[in-house]
Amino acid sequence: MVDKLLRTLICLVCLCAVQVSAEQYPSKPITIIVPFSAGGPTDTSARLLAQYMGETLKTQVIVENVAGAGGTMAAARVAGSPPDGYTVFFHHIGFSTAPSLYRKLPYDTIRDFEPLGMVGDVAMTLVARKDFPARGLKELIAYVKANKDKVNLANAGLGAASHLCGMLFMSAIQTDFTTIPYKGTGPAMNDLLGGQVDFMCDQTSNTISQIKAGKIKVYGVTTKTRVSALPDVPTLDEAGLKNFEISVWQGLYVPKATPKPIIEKLTKALQTALANPTLKQRFVELGTVPAGKESATPEALRKHLKAEIDKWGPIIKKAGVYAD
Ligand code: ASP
Repeated sequence: MVDKLLRTLICLVCLCAVQVSAEQYPSKPITIIVPFSAGGPTDTSARLLAQYMGETLKTQVIVENVAGAGGTMAAARVAGSPPDGYTVFFHHIGFSTAPSLYRKLPYDTIRDFEPLGMVGDVAMTLVARKDFPARGLKELIAYVKANKDKVNLANAGLGAASHLCGMLFMSAIQTDFTTIPYKGTGPAMNDLLGGQVDFMCDQTSNTISQIKAGKIKVYGVTTKTRVSALPDVPTLDEAGLKNFEISVWQGLYVPKATPKPIIEKLTKALQTALANPTLKQRFVELGTVPAGKESATPEALRKHLKAEIDKWGPIIKKAGVYAD
């Protein structure tokens, strides 16, 4: 009896403490965990968002890169972090493909996280080193088929969007070639610029400035429609790869059991950031469509994540790509 009373009392004290900390939240810097290296497209989007969310939350929002294993290391780290709103996770489409790519994950994608909202959608571009011999998509396909033992494609590891896009390309042209995994496409881009790797399919946010500067070759964008910031670049579908389509959606999460008032504050800060005209413009310049208010909600992201897990499962199974 006394025991039960004591437990109830402890629970009440804990509840009050969470409530008080939720009211005072945030009272120290918040960390956004990015699952790839610094300098890549996920990092770029997260840093932009961090700056604007920090303004609303009136605290510093720091970005920490936890790269490795195609984003799954970072996810595991977030899943095991205290649910106090000070650890936020920025991830993309790869969060929904990992459950099918990895036979065993150190976290549960649905159970261990609370979604905050969608951030945006970014097209990918198929690009190659500047002196790559192929001049258009048709030549690229012919060249890759004829030199499949020689050419190599850079990606950010199993679970990365660049990996997924490369896999879709391989399957579309029915040709296997070598892939080189990096911890992010920031470092992969450096090697593409240096000519150490041949080609890559990556978020337009990482390729656009190099395309515009003429430092890399571009073969097409992966969305159904052209990207407004790259109006002269055809879609891969237009260029000859019928129905080739992938776009990288991004979302924000916190660990499961984060108090609701904290989730609401973070979601509000996300929505405020995405409504900011300067951030919006910057996103568009990077080939990213910022999420609207109705998509930047926990419900919308929860629904989208589940739908994407269901969508990619059979595709990945058919392609037979798994991590050991
Ligand atoms: N673009 C990478 C990917 O393929 C990740 C990154 O470095 O942002 O998912």
